[in-house]
Amino acid sequence: MTTTPEEFRLFIGGKSVDARSGRTFDSQNPYTGRPWARLADGGPDDVDEAVVAARTAFEGEWGQMTGFQRAAIMRKCGDAIAANADRLARLEVNDSGKLLREMLGQLNSLPQWYYYFSGLADKVEGRTVPPVNPNYFGFTTREPVGVVGAITPWNSPLLLLTFKLAPALAAGCTMVAKPSEHSPASTVVFAEILHEAGLPAGVFNVVTGWDRSTGEALASHRGVDKIAFTGSTATGAKVAQAAVANLNRVTLELGGKSPQIVFADADLDAAANGLVAGVFAATGQTCMAGSRLIVHADVHDALIEKVVARADAITLGDPTAAETEMGPVANRPQYEKVLSYLQGAAAEGATFACGGEPDAERGGLFVKPTVVTNVTPETTIVREEVFGPVLAAYTFRDEDEALKLANDTPYGLAGAVWTKDVHRAHRVAAKLRAGSVWINAYRVVSPAMPFGGFGMSGIGRENGIDAVNEYTENKSVFVELTGGTRDPFQLG
Ligand code: NAD
Repeated sequence: MTTTPEEFRLFIGGKSVDARSGRTFDSQNPYTGRPWARLADGGPDDVDEAVVAARTAFEGEWGQMTGFQRAAIMRKCGDAIAANADRLARLEVNDSGKLLREMLGQLNSLPQWYYYFSGLADKVEGRTVPPVNPNYFGFTTREPVGVVGAITPWNSPLLLLTFKLAPALAAGCTMVAKPSEHSPASTVVFAEILHEAGLPAGVFNVVTGWDRSTGEALASHRGVDKIAFTGSTATGAKVAQAAVANLNRVTLELGGKSPQIVFADADLDAAANGLVAGVFAATGQTCMAGSRLIVHADVHDALIEKVVARADAITLGDPTAAETEMGPVANRPQYEKVLSYLQGAAAEGATFACGGEPDAERGGLFVKPTVVTNVTPETTIVREEVFGPVLAAYTFRDEDEALKLANDTPYGLAGAVWTKDVHRAHRVAAKLRAGSVWINAYRVVSPAMPFGGFGMSGIGRENGIDAVNEYTENKSVFVELTGGTRDPFQLG
């Protein structure tokens, strides 16, 4: 059966518009393998228009509002997202093949970000500063940085957008978003919903585009004041260079190769469950995937047995079906990348405790949940981000060795420690070089907890009380108190 793809246009200045070129591109549903959506193929001209709309809003109605007024609108945005969670989740499932239940969970929790950051919008405060020179009164103000360009990946489009948009709105910024060409539809509809909820025209604009030049145009745009990017480390480096060429502010949330350290005293059932959550949930397509299992040699076999038993029982299938636990890989290039990592691992001498191949019965873009054993810290699959349902397992003998192995990575996004020893849990958590650490848990996020990476996992933090500051400039003001004059040739 052929169905006509749904159509989605750009959202600029509070209006749905076609790309100036008139071109469109299709988005494939990775489960059906068929195009399901037709998107406007925006280019640099459209980015220009969106930046002008965002600047106009920043200098206009939105820029004049108090934090209290912005907070009230943000709460309405949260309510509107809650009311539309099901619709938005289905758009994301069609685009990325992720599980409906996972995306429903994400969309239902998304309003919390707008409520949390609305609570900060009216608390963007400066300081009064004790003077060195008593003739001056000093204070600081936090001012919105201006127009933000947000560039997002395909794996959780609205969640990762929200990590940027909610604090940016709280700070008083406006935004132009460029979602991934592989999952663009939900961001366009999101913009329409927020506008209907009361977000003034031009505050949040969306330019979709097939070609990399759309993202490049935004990253290097002189009319933008800050770039907030989530995606791969390689692209992040290019985006940062383009932004810094204009001396624009930049935050980067990039890739990871996160370790899960399991000590011999750990609850192995809980650890196995956490490993499954860490690397097979979302088909392993999360930046924080716990893709390296570093396990005490004494419990290696017992733990692998438990993980394999659960991995083999994972129900693969239709992402919209209630019983499905793992959907397909999100797009063909990504599918081919995962398979080439598996072939490479075999060629380097690794073995597969389970999986290691496509799900031939199911066809399409399905890869079996895979546990790779017989690897060393140098094996490629241990060092590089696969972004798929692939766990690489290797062993340690003592705490120092576990930490050395865990930290032997250029990344530093997340990690976990599994042990019943509270002293050890804290010692190891403190020494893990990673932005988020879970003790006896995995894959928990909160609007109130900072998220971001050490090393090649990024620059800056999203979420948490300080995230608003990433969208402000810190201004110092000196006030002369005496009314007199001073030696003009002397500093301060
Ligand atoms: P990607 O880097 O290929 O693309 C990310 C975005 O950048 C897309 O919108 C893309 O169109 C755009 N882009 C590509 N080239 C560009 C350029 N030269 N200039 C400007 N924009 C450009 O990443 P992806 O494949 O969409 O996503 C997967 C990656 O994202 C993984 O590496 C994953 O770890 C990472 N990720 C990180 C986090 C985090 O919070 N740290 C979260 C999710 C995903």
